[in-house]
Amino acid sequence: MMASRASRHEESWLLLPWLANGRLPLAERAALEEHLRECAACTQELAQQRLLCQVLTAPENLAAVREAIENAGFTIDSSELTMLPKTTVEVADEGDAKKVLRLMDQLEDNDDVQDVYANFDIPERVLEAVAG
Ligand SMILES: [Zn+2]
Repeated sequence: MMASRASRHEESWLLLPWLANGRLPLAERAALEEHLRECAACTQELAQQRLLCQVLTAPENLAAVREAIENAGFTIDSSELTMLPKTTVEVADEGDAKKVLRLMDQLEDNDDVQDVYANFDIPERVLEAVAG
């Protein structure tokens, strides 16, 4: 007998944290991913939980925080130093957005550039217009 849609959702919901932190066995993963394709609520919850698994700290605390997380039994996918803007600048003009994105591409393609940080904020509708 097939599980009802509601109980399938209940089961899947409970497994989401394990999918988010990468500890879900492969066998359960396939069924859960199948449910995610048709369930907006679970998909949204998974996105939330993935965010919760991101930890931000001051650069000088990075090593200590890494160690504490690992000692607590979690697996760290990646840790890196980054630059987070305190303020962002909206680029709402399509022409400007194109120029900014072209500049970012060129910087990222440049072998002499290691990392690119930016504080521009291009609204979704402008991004779509520029991409389209
Ligand atoms: Zn669901």
